[in-house]
Amino acid sequence: MARIQWYPGHMNKARNQLEDKMGLIDVFVEVLDARIPASSRNPMIEDLVGDKPHLIILNKADLADPVMTKRWQKQLAGKGKLVMAMDALHANNMQILVSMVKKAAAEKVKKLEAKGASDPVVRIALAGIPNCGKSTIINRLVGRNVAAVGNKPGVTKGQTWLKAQANIQILDTPGILWPKFEDQAVGYKLAAFGAIKDSVFSGDDVALFLLENLRKYYLGDLVKFARATKEEIAKINNPDLLLALTTEYGMRDDYDRFSLYLLQRLRKGKVGRITLDRI
Ligand code: GDP
Repeated sequence: MARIQWYPGHMNKARNQLEDKMGLIDVFVEVLDARIPASSRNPMIEDLVGDKPHLIILNKADLADPVMTKRWQKQLAGKGKLVMAMDALHANNMQILVSMVKKAAAEKVKKLEAKGASDPVVRIALAGIPNCGKSTIINRLVGRNVAAVGNKPGVTKGQTWLKAQANIQILDTPGILWPKFEDQAVGYKLAAFGAIKDSVFSGDDVALFLLENLRKYYLGDLVKFARATKEEIAKINNPDLLLALTTEYGMRDDYDRFSLYLLQRLRKGKVGRITLDRI
């Protein structure tokens, strides 16, 4: 695998900026991709958040394996930490998110109310890797398009306070990327779900990694996607399977093109509800 050079210096800067702003917020909202809850976590987050109320969102739960999502919810919950799974495209979920934010901030709100404040402002910051759904969540909370939805990995945004519903104010922060490059599987998982640029890895390497995982954990989905039988798939190795699928999908021997197509289908949930971080 080529040495990864994609981690831009401004991501580090973003982390430092977030550290500076931590004192200003009441609740830290960490957005994870429910399909890769471990790989989409930044290892420094726990240290960074410290004792601050911490809300973890397993977003894109509509695309993830529901059994795995339940397990991750349990695994990630802890002292001072609330976890919710959601689909940010579903409007009703914002009500739940708002109540979770209020719940996470309850101690502070109670203190302020005891001092006479009525319905005090709750300040939050959202962070997560690119493409996990931060902008979508912010836009829904604020009720208009304020963040660049669909922004490309590596593109950062400025930091401003945004007024959201229920007296919540949001610090719009850039995503924080996982800097653990030495773990190849993490890189492949991030690439598979579009958190890093497609050009970082060759598509066929990621596709082969995906086929291996589908074979192991989602054979039923693979059988459907391949329009084949379990027996046929069992007989063939991954590189040959990739070539067979390329032909099956009418792309002759252009497996590079097919690999990207497979990843696009995966990202949209068209291969199945696939979670690649197993628990
Ligand atoms: P950001 O880079 O973290 O700000 O991610 P975006 O908010 O730009 O979202 C990336 C893509 O994922 C967009 O195409 C969104 O429409 C889509 N998306 C965001 N949240 C969800 C979700 O919960 N479910 C599904 N299916 N798609 C989502």
